[in-house]
Amino acid sequence: MKVHEYQARELLASAGVPVPPARVIESIDDAAPAYKAVTAEGETDLAVVKAQVHAGGRGNAGFVKLVRSPDDATDAARFMLSNKMVSVQTGPDGLEVKKLLVAAGVDIDHEYYVAITTDRATRRNVLIASREGGVEIEQVAKTNPDAIIKTFIHPLLGLQAHQAREVAFRLGFTGKQVSQAVKVMTALATLYATKDCSLAEINPLITTKPTAEHPDGLVLAIDAKFNFDDNGLFRHKDIGALFDPAEENPNELRASRMGLSYIALDGNIGCLVNGAGLAMATMDIIKLHGGEPANFLDVGGSASEEAVTEAFRIILSDPAVKGVLVNIFGGIMRCDVIAQGIANAAKEVGFEIPLVVRLEGTNVDAGREILKAAAADLPTLQAATDLGDAAEKVCQAVG
Ligand code: GDP
Ligand code: MN
Repeated sequence: MKVHEYQARELLASAGVPVPPARVIESIDDAAPAYKAVTAEGETDLAVVKAQVHAGGRGNAGFVKLVRSPDDATDAARFMLSNKMVSVQTGPDGLEVKKLLVAAGVDIDHEYYVAITTDRATRRNVLIASREGGVEIEQVAKTNPDAIIKTFIHPLLGLQAHQAREVAFRLGFTGKQVSQAVKVMTALATLYATKDCSLAEINPLITTKPTAEHPDGLVLAIDAKFNFDDNGLFRHKDIGALFDPAEENPNELRASRMGLSYIALDGNIGCLVNGAGLAMATMDIIKLHGGEPANFLDVGGSASEEAVTEAFRIILSDPAVKGVLVNIFGGIMRCDVIAQGIANAAKEVGFEIPLVVRLEGTNVDAGREILKAAAADLPTLQAATDLGDAAEKVCQAVG
């Protein structure tokens, strides 16, 4: 599960990481008052208006704007709320922006990158840090990998103080910055572990320019990204509550409400399968026969007839779908339940496109009977004998 930057900043603040004061707004009219509030709190005239979407690359896309007056804040808000954001992370269609963060601006001396994620090869969490933080970090990772420091975290001991200090020195922090940076990295590692994150990233972590009050500058987080392991959400109601359905693919959301795993893809063959392994094998064999799957839909082992019907509604609602392949190996999932779902969907929405069905396993005879009885509603139905036959038939049918 992904969350917005403003939610990630709140998590950081609650763990003791300093972040500039900010407000979340949803309308153009709220931009000027938000500008006034955050600049008063931050004792500056600089503020930054930032699109809140589940994608990065906002800076380069023009969706992070520095402003120095209420009118400029309003103009930035108008632009971001009325244009889709297209960045390297969004795909060409872009994303609609519904929320903005207005934060007090800071006078940046240097931008750093720090993040924690899980490294599968070593089966440990890893602290990744770089002195070359900011909007070009992906480029740095590609062209100058030596500028990226990796520190592996012991699964029981966590990030140790000496490790964090060493990283702070290697990043070039000096004077009072060192202990501040150590505190940030330690808090990030603790959040990562206790909240079951899959990514906890601050980019950039910055130092402010020296002032009379803070001659060494301050270490602040001015952008953050947190992803969470869905399998851990049941023990973090506070994190689950941060879920924003407006950022999700509506069909994927509809499916998850029914306990189905659905992922939209780019092809034209809708797939309805039970079990993730069989779903992947089905996609592979479709590709082997020259086709392209339009989705990955795993009804799982215990879907009800209603859930299966909903699965067909979702697949058929996608105008890109030119044919459907049902591949069921009935174990706990019964073939008659799947067949009834097909029959219901056929009655309700009609199958005008080719439908290839391969049913095997528990209650397969009852399933075939149901399909036979619904034959009038299923003029395009073809039965397949095995997986290869099914893939061949559906690929032929969609051309
Ligand atoms: P991202 O591009 O989506 O990662 O958005 P960020 O929040 O990281 O902002 C992109 C860039 O905008 C940062 O790397 C900074 O260079 C700049 N920026 C963001 N906030 C401030 C600020 O308060 N002051 C200054 N001077 N620059 C900022
Ligand atoms: Mn960033």
